[in-house]
Amino acid sequence: MNNNNDTTYDVVVIGGGIQGAGVAQAAQAAGYSTLILEKTDWAAGTSSKSSKLIHGGLRYLQGGELSLVQEGLQERALLLKNAPELVHSNWFYLPVYKHSNYHSWQIHSGLTLYWMLSGFHEESKFEVVPESQWSELAGLEAKDLQKVYRYHDAQTDDAKLTAAVIQSAVSLGAETCCPAEFINAEQTEDGYRVCYKTSSQKTSTDKNSADKTCIDKNSSDKNNTQTEDENSVSCRFLVNAGGPWVNHVVSAISPPPRSIEVDLVQGAHLILDKKISDQCFYLESPTDKRAIFVLPWYDKTLLGTTETLFEGNPEDASPTEQERQYLLEVLASHFPEYDGNVCGEMAGLRVLPSGRQKHYHRSREVRLITDQPRRPHYLGIYGGKLTGYRATAEKVVKEIGETLGVPENWVDTKTLPLTLPTV
Ligand SMILES: Cc1cc2nc3c(=O)[nH]c(=O)nc-3n(C[C@H](O)[C@H](O)[C@H](O)COP(=O)(O)OP(=O)(O)OC[C@H]3O[C@@H](n4cnc5c(N)ncnc54)[C@H](O)[C@@H]3O)c2cc1C
Repeated sequence: MNNNNDTTYDVVVIGGGIQGAGVAQAAQAAGYSTLILEKTDWAAGTSSKSSKLIHGGLRYLQGGELSLVQEGLQERALLLKNAPELVHSNWFYLPVYKHSNYHSWQIHSGLTLYWMLSGFHEESKFEVVPESQWSELAGLEAKDLQKVYRYHDAQTDDAKLTAAVIQSAVSLGAETCCPAEFINAEQTEDGYRVCYKTSSQKTSTDKNSADKTCIDKNSSDKNNTQTEDENSVSCRFLVNAGGPWVNHVVSAISPPPRSIEVDLVQGAHLILDKKISDQCFYLESPTDKRAIFVLPWYDKTLLGTTETLFEGNPEDASPTEQERQYLLEVLASHFPEYDGNVCGEMAGLRVLPSGRQKHYHRSREVRLITDQPRRPHYLGIYGGKLTGYRATAEKVVKEIGETLGVPENWVDTKTLPLTLPTV
């Protein structure tokens, strides 16, 4: 059924990952009527498959990404204050071995800079773990161990955080539609006409089912049919927060707005059935020297991550055998006595600008691409961090304000508390 709805929103957001959720919250808080569309479920994409760290990103200091690190540390401080049920601080242990890529003094300098960039925040303090305590480090390999540092960073449940931001957006008045798949959009005189598809399961006893366009999805249960409705709404500003699908969304907009070429880079995590420690470990892969995290995840352990160029449909991302082996080797080289088993796995996709540089060294800064430099009506979000979602949303709302003007009564998202999602 085609529902040509006359509703006009100030802002329509495509994609209910953390970035889309953040924009929906910030846009509605700024006073713009907002609708967010998500095709599968909140956080169904990368936002439920991250390392679940709320951090500045110690390793980004290597690439000189000081502003990215500083912004992450500021956002971490805000989230620790505004979302205590969802974000908690933890110790991260960083061992330095004889064969490590970085010397102790380099790690020391990096941690000092990390602390400085946090504004000498208590949460970024670090210390050297005395040798007498090494035996208490969950069986960490002690051969050739030269020093162990520990510093504070924070952890979250990324899917719950996303749902909490959606919940906050709704409490401010934003409208949500999920599952709702964006199909296409056409530019109009003052914005876009957006077409999307909703589907629901109907039983043969549903009285209204005859009025709907029913598409039988070959359901094994003949009494159940899937109904799909096409709807359209208008908006004055369209935000593409499609994550790994960002350019797929671009290709369905007429005329196609500006975009950038990206590489999708897969990051795999394994879940192990026994918790190694209540604290976190920041390890170095002995083969390629990349950073690998061993993290407590509820009563289990989360191990990740990798960087593998991904080609194909983002829905199909899943860990490869090579990635499993790689992660388990890093684990075994640092925790030789650990006897837990893999009980789960996941893979998320990073959206990185195309380039020749190795993925590991490419910038993690978010890129905001508008349809035109002045008074845009469209903005696409490329990449970014879970941690920086609020700061990104603030920048997006600034762009929206360029075109729609700034409403008088707006709420600063820095002040909004986030609570555990109730659904
Ligand atoms: C392996 C890995 C580890 C990471 N670890 C961290 C970390 O520890 N800390 C950190 O700060 N950051 C981390 N990141 C980065 C962070 O996870 C991502 O930047 C963030 O989750 C991306 O969110 P997003 O909303 O842009 O994308 P997504 O979460 O992928 O959301 C996009 C959404 O758009 C929806 N969508 C797509 N097409 C349509 C359509 N046609 N109609 C409707 N909806 C549509 C999808 O279903 C999806 O839900 C990590 C990233 C990866 C890959």
